[in-house]
Amino acid sequence: MAQAAPKISFVSLGCPKALVDSERIITQLRAEGYELTKTHRGADAVIVNTCGFLDSAKAESLDAIGAAMAENGKVIVTGCMGAEPEQILAAYPGIAAITGPQAYESVMKAVHDVAPPSHDPFLDLVPPQGVKLTPRHYAYLKISEGCNNRCTFCIIPKLRGDLVSRPVGDVLREAEKLVNAGVKELLVISQDTSAYGLDIKYAASQWKDREVRAKFVDLSRELGQLGAWVRLHYVYPYPHVDDVIPLMAEGLVLPYLDIPFQHASPSVLKAMKRPGNQEKTLDRIHAWREICPDLAIRSTFIVGFPGETDADFEFLLDWLKEAKLERVGCFKYEPVKGATSNDIGLAHISEDVKQHRWNRFMETQQAISAARLKSRVGKRIKVIIDEPGPTVSKGRSQWDAPEIDGNVHVGSRRPLRQGDIVTVKIERADAYDLFGVAV
Ligand code: SF4
Repeated sequence: MAQAAPKISFVSLGCPKALVDSERIITQLRAEGYELTKTHRGADAVIVNTCGFLDSAKAESLDAIGAAMAENGKVIVTGCMGAEPEQILAAYPGIAAITGPQAYESVMKAVHDVAPPSHDPFLDLVPPQGVKLTPRHYAYLKISEGCNNRCTFCIIPKLRGDLVSRPVGDVLREAEKLVNAGVKELLVISQDTSAYGLDIKYAASQWKDREVRAKFVDLSRELGQLGAWVRLHYVYPYPHVDDVIPLMAEGLVLPYLDIPFQHASPSVLKAMKRPGNQEKTLDRIHAWREICPDLAIRSTFIVGFPGETDADFEFLLDWLKEAKLERVGCFKYEPVKGATSNDIGLAHISEDVKQHRWNRFMETQQAISAARLKSRVGKRIKVIIDEPGPTVSKGRSQWDAPEIDGNVHVGSRRPLRQGDIVTVKIERADAYDLFGVAV
C-alpha cells in the first residue's frame, strides 16, 4: 500500500526574487511527491523562506520562524536571512536547518532528513512549467542572481554575492514553457536586469534557428516574440537601455520600465554609489518618451539618506516635477545592519526631518501620478484581467505591474476570465486607479 505523502507547510516572505526561489523549491517538493499544507500544525516540516533586506523584514522573518517553531517545531529556514544564521540560532536554537538564498539542494537535503519522501521521486509528476505561487496568468522570470554593484545602503551583494547570469537559452526555454502553460505576462526580474550577461561575457546560446547573445536587449527582443506581455523590472539607466525603447515602441516589450532611481541629487547618488550615468537621466527620459510616448516609468526613492541636505532634497523634488514618472514609491532611509552607508562619515538625518521630507515627496509625486493617470481618460487601452467579478473585474494596464502599481476596474456585460486581455474604454481616474468599460 502506498504511504501517505509527507506534508510540508511553506511560508514565502520577501520580494519577487524570493518568490521565484520559493516556486523552485515547491516545484522540487511536488516532483518528489511531497504534499503542501496550509497549516503548520500536522505538517511533517515547515519551510520558511525569509527576507533579510531591511531590519523590518528581518523582524517579520523572525516572527514567522517563531510561529512555525511554536506550532510545529520542525523548521527549515532558507532565503536571504539564512545567510546570517547566528541571529536565527540565537533566538531559536532548535531549528532543524538553515540555508542561504538559492540553496535549493541544501533545502531539499534538509527536507529529506526531517521528513523523508514516501516514494520514488522519479515516478512522480509535476507540471512541466513547475508549480507556481503566482496566479496562472503571470510569472516572474529570474534571469540572474546577485549583483556587481555596491550601493552603500544595500546588503544584497553581501547576502547573494556577485552577478551570476543564467544562460540565455535556459531563460528562453523556461519562458517558452511558461507561455505554453498559459502564462500571459512575463515579469523579468534580477537585482540588476540591465547588467544581464556581463559575467558570462554575453555568451551566445542556440535558440530555435539562431544564436542569441546573453544581452539585455537581445533577450528582451526574443522574449517579446513569445506572444506574452513582457515587463522589465530593476533596470538601471545604463546607456544600452536606450536600445530597448524601440522594442517598446514596436510593441514587442511593454512600454514600462521599473528603474529604482533612489535619488536625483548628484552628491547623494555619489554617496549611495549608484550605478548608471545618473546625471543625464532627465535628458534620457525625455529622449525615451520621444521614441515611445506611451512609456510608463516606475521607480523608488530614499529620502533622509545620511548627508542629504535641504538643497539635495529640493533638487529631488524639482527633478520629480520634471521627470513626471508614472508610479513612484518612497522609503525613509533605514540604517540596515551591515550597510556601509551607516558609517561613511555623513550625518544621519533625524526621524522628524525624514518624515517631513517623505510627506513633501509623497504630496509632490501624488499630484504628478494623478495627472498622468488622468491623461488616460477617454482612451481605449489593453487590460489584463487579474480578478474577474460578476459585473466589475479588476485588471491592470500595460503601465501597471502586479502588486506594486495600480488597477483598472473594468465593467463588462460579458463574463471575463482571469488572464483575458481586453480593450477597455477609460471613463475616469482617481489617484491610483483607472475605471472603464470593456468594449
Ligand atoms: S544595484 Fe545596488 S541596491 Fe540593487 S542589489 Fe545591487 S547593490 Fe543592492
